[in-house]
Amino acid sequence: MSELRFKVVEEAIRRKAVCLPATEERPSEMFGKNVFDEEKMRKYLPKKTYEALMETMKHGKALSREIADSVASGMKQWAMDMGATHYTHWFQPLTGGTAEKHDAFVEHDGKGGMIEEFSGKLLIQQEPDASSFPSGGIRNTFEARGYSAWDATSPAFIVDTTLCIPTIFIAYTGEALDYKVPLLRSLQAVDRAATDVCHYFDPEVTKVFSYLGWEQEYFLVDEGLYAARPDMVLTGRTLMGHESAKNQQLEDHYFGAIPTRVMSFMKDLEFECWKLGIPVKTRHNEVAPNQFELAPIFEETNLANDHNLLLMSIMKKVARRHSFRVLLHEKPFKGINGSGKHNNWSLGTDTGVNLLSPGKTPQANLQFMTFLVNIMMAVYKHNGLLKASIASATNAHRLGANEAPPAIISIFLGRQISTVLDKMVSSTSDDAIEFDEKTGFKMGGIAHIPELLIDNTDRNRTSPFAFTGNRFEFRAVGSSDNCGGAMTVLNTSVADQLIEFKSQVDDRIARGEAKEAAIFAVLKEYIKECAVIHFDGNGYSDEWKAEAAKRGLDCETSVPLIFDQFVAPSNVGMFTRTGVLSSTELEARAEVKWETYTKKIQIEARVLGDLAINHILPVASRYQSMLLDKVYKMKELFGAKYETIAAQDLVLIEKISGHMAKIQTLTEKMIDARKVANKIENEREKAIAYHNTVAATFDEIRYHIDKLEEVVDNEMWPLPKYRELLFIR
Ligand code: ADP
Ligand code: MG
Repeated sequence: MSELRFKVVEEAIRRKAVCLPATEERPSEMFGKNVFDEEKMRKYLPKKTYEALMETMKHGKALSREIADSVASGMKQWAMDMGATHYTHWFQPLTGGTAEKHDAFVEHDGKGGMIEEFSGKLLIQQEPDASSFPSGGIRNTFEARGYSAWDATSPAFIVDTTLCIPTIFIAYTGEALDYKVPLLRSLQAVDRAATDVCHYFDPEVTKVFSYLGWEQEYFLVDEGLYAARPDMVLTGRTLMGHESAKNQQLEDHYFGAIPTRVMSFMKDLEFECWKLGIPVKTRHNEVAPNQFELAPIFEETNLANDHNLLLMSIMKKVARRHSFRVLLHEKPFKGINGSGKHNNWSLGTDTGVNLLSPGKTPQANLQFMTFLVNIMMAVYKHNGLLKASIASATNAHRLGANEAPPAIISIFLGRQISTVLDKMVSSTSDDAIEFDEKTGFKMGGIAHIPELLIDNTDRNRTSPFAFTGNRFEFRAVGSSDNCGGAMTVLNTSVADQLIEFKSQVDDRIARGEAKEAAIFAVLKEYIKECAVIHFDGNGYSDEWKAEAAKRGLDCETSVPLIFDQFVAPSNVGMFTRTGVLSSTELEARAEVKWETYTKKIQIEARVLGDLAINHILPVASRYQSMLLDKVYKMKELFGAKYETIAAQDLVLIEKISGHMAKIQTLTEKMIDARKVANKIENEREKAIAYHNTVAATFDEIRYHIDKLEEVVDNEMWPLPKYRELLFIR
């Protein structure tokens, strides 16, 4: 029975690191090799086309059909020179991940042969038959048309022999069916709103960029062991498994030496990333055994997000070359840390100023405080929605599990910034605005606050949204998620808030207040209004949960209920005002979120039921009959002499029976709950039922299975155990 387990464990132990072919190339030479970037555009496109394309990429100008044809022809030539034979529109459906459908560069030549063909029309727009992508009811199956259209702001690239063209995905009726459309709209919204506000300080600014630097956490597992765990294969996580005696308690994995086999994988992955223009920079072990992290240098948000999605798919491929499987699930193993994806986010101007970096001049510092405080207001107003943007069936395991921030959004600022805010609030309006040209802020009665040099050491790992010196770090994002969801909500909230701020300041100016005084006065009101979002304490503590509820922050923990935020009037108002998502699109998104939640739990329930009934119970029952057999035989041979010893055997037999009975009845209960839930038509109600009645049984079933794992003969146990899965040699 457990032969398979022993075999795969043995193979995993013997597995050697893959030797990579030596390369003479430096990262800088490799970088962007497989990307149709500016350098290649210059080389492959006529000058006029190149210039027109640059206008589109930098200023969003529409591409004419003629130019598109010319771009397509240059792009095709480059791709063919690189050995590509196919092309695909690469898009981001609401299922998560990316989708692609490959077509070859061939057309009939009209003379019975074939020619390599790729027109501007094919480059710009396609109609993938994508009726089975989730649309939340926007696209009925009979109206199954969806269009993918080129996002010229993200360069095309080659994977294997396919030219991949980043695209948006929309319905026939124009609604967004993906993550990219709303993200692009939100970037435009925040650009406009922030540029307007920047004009209070610097009229030269013409564009504000949103930047994203993600840190991707992941687990690696040997492929043989992985294949022997149906739960991992089908759900991405272990639904059962007793804790390993040793896991992360010695903290010896974090930043420790990287095992050779893993190092070889990481190097290979880095090469692939560099070739695709993903500027990966940092790699290290994470807290949990077999857990690692990879981070690039930050980029403009849309490109950074494309790069993260590309990375996730490349990782899976490279892992296979090294006989690994990469786990992007937020919580693959119980009892050790899960994986997240910290989203480092900031705003910067085309004049080269990071708006979240305290400046050297008072003017710059007021600008910095303006953005900081408005971001606090935005996060305060939409804290529930921000949580909804990162909530999922898989991320729910991680949030609030004493390893990641709780399911409550708050902001960490650190000592220095907190002090500045306090002083701003307590200063009187007359003496509020005094600038010391040399040293920065000067506020009445308070010694001047020198040039704000934010020290990075003052960090709080327990905060979901932390200021870290020159950016915010949104840490609640799940490791498997498309960052686009969170980034859309963040950028839109900030855009909407900045618009409101501007109108309030302008009102005051119109009433005769000086500009700086007006800005200062509005900020002061804001600091007081959103004070409750600021929390520098221990986010993992139970006291914080109680305190946060008292403060009126969103403390909902049920994922289906968290999704209500997408259709809450205040959030719909924000999205429609900024033009990022219409109420139809929001309803559709909420619908898809509920549906996906239900499906994930449904699959887990089926796998758990199957493993419990077909794998675990038969093994436990076999072991139990061995014990019973022994008791009978011993009694027969030794009679009364055996009675006292038999008592111990009987305790074990009963213990096994107890757990088995529980597994049996709880699994039946779970199946019944599923049957009831499946009859519910409304997606929201169904997801709630799955959450409250189906998912609610998992932990208890698992508890009894894990107890059996402790007592059943190791040789009989069918599934690779945690101690075998978690330590790559
Ligand atoms: P940590 O100490 O949290 O591991 P790192 O220094 O490794 O932080 O940086 C994490 C990520 O933050 C990197 O992708 C980095 O490029 C990015 N980052 C740094 N500055 C900014 C910024 N101003 N805006 C957005 N991301 C940034
Ligand atoms: Mg970080």
